[in-house]
Amino acid sequence: MPTQLQRAREGTVTAAMERVAEREQCDPEFVREQVAEGQAVIPTNHGHDSLDPMVVGREFGTKVNANIGASETTSNLEDELEKLHTAVHYGADTVMDLSTGGDLDEIREANVEYSPVPVGTVPIYEAVTRVDDVAEITHELLLEVIEGQAEQGVDYMTVHAGVTMEHLPLTDGRKTGIVSRGGSILAQWIEENGMENPLYTKFEEICEIFAEHDVTFSLGDGLRPGCLADASDEAQFAELDTLGELTRTAWDHGVQVMVEGPGHVPMDEVADNVERQQDVCDGAPFYVLGPLVTDVAPGYDHITSAIGATEAARAGAAMLCYVTPKEHLGLPDAEDVRDGLAAYRIAAHAADVANGREGARDWDDALSEARYEFDWRRQFDLALDPERAREFHDQTLPGDNYKEARFCSMCGVDFCSMRIDQDAREAAEAGEGQLEAIDDETDLEDSPAAEVNRPPVGEHDGSDVPDLPKFVDPYGHEEPADD
Ligand code: SF4
Repeated sequence: MPTQLQRAREGTVTAAMERVAEREQCDPEFVREQVAEGQAVIPTNHGHDSLDPMVVGREFGTKVNANIGASETTSNLEDELEKLHTAVHYGADTVMDLSTGGDLDEIREANVEYSPVPVGTVPIYEAVTRVDDVAEITHELLLEVIEGQAEQGVDYMTVHAGVTMEHLPLTDGRKTGIVSRGGSILAQWIEENGMENPLYTKFEEICEIFAEHDVTFSLGDGLRPGCLADASDEAQFAELDTLGELTRTAWDHGVQVMVEGPGHVPMDEVADNVERQQDVCDGAPFYVLGPLVTDVAPGYDHITSAIGATEAARAGAAMLCYVTPKEHLGLPDAEDVRDGLAAYRIAAHAADVANGREGARDWDDALSEARYEFDWRRQFDLALDPERAREFHDQTLPGDNYKEARFCSMCGVDFCSMRIDQDAREAAEAGEGQLEAIDDETDLEDSPAAEVNRPPVGEHDGSDVPDLPKFVDPYGHEEPADD
């Protein structure tokens, strides 16, 4: 079966393109053109039956990826499915299963089966678990792992094919060396075997596997900077040049491509990094990790990175890989997934508003109107994280009567500026005053915004997703007690 890219080039608007156009509120023919030109990707493995297709490209709403996955120290299927559903519930547009521990096959298979969003992986991680020493990874093993994951229905894979022998010496003198897991594994393999990166030498064979299943490349930035001091250095940009060549090779095989980006970058260099990638990789969608704009805030790196992510999306990055508060410190749990996603949905939406994406600001306007009208229930419903907004409000004013109140506990009844302003306007209306009532209403039903830009976020068509196994309680809800 041809890939989305091949069909787009033939002039066919596929069912996935139709669905994407519906979600983005645009013409299906526009989606086809963007995919045909490599400016957008629709990661859709032929074998991912529960998928609700989505698009990644700078002409569409900014997307957010959530990394999930088990580690050697923490791994069980129940927790992983809980993370998957937390991620989807709080608005992830794609998820990456970065598992390095537990039964990798079982976890991956379950993630694909129960996910309505595209699932990405990093196959080198599985290859490492199949050998005693990294140097023992063979070309055949790598291709076997990649093919196996493609057959399981993985929609996109991070392939660190740009880490080459020639580039490694360029990382000498860095403050934090090679910080990408995949990048460091491949650097070790190259050093110990004295041979070129097998993902680079076997790239065309990988393209053939990807073309057969319509797996999208996420060309990994294995030499991405791990601190501000290493940002925008020779190693990073040499690898980027190789990723540009590989992008064109993959396109020649009819395979869709995204390109991954840094890492840690000072705020003033973020836009230049995005523009450079767009130029070197001929507009292939840029998928950035953050970037963190300062290194000093472990425990708060969902914030340091969301600042960089907003700037990156402003400059043209198409998808943002979230960072959780646990970054650099430990494996995120479901609550960290929620916090990371909130930070990144904010970044993506703020960039879409700033970029003037059609209808993007309707959500803000609707919430502001509800806020000014003291329509607390509507304000909660429209919030990016409705449960969090309601919980914070109700911590101090839990009663139902306070859902109609013309104040909250922040300023209190006497000092509520919005109540005072409304009273002043009403008094002016009754007399000869100058203030006029504010009377406005934004109808979100009619908004031309893409689904990712309208509440509730995280709405995917889950009709093809099977019921969850009994043991999973995705959002911490109690099972109703038996009578
Ligand atoms: S009390 Fe203050 S924070 Fe609360 S609604 Fe009024 S103006 Fe807003």
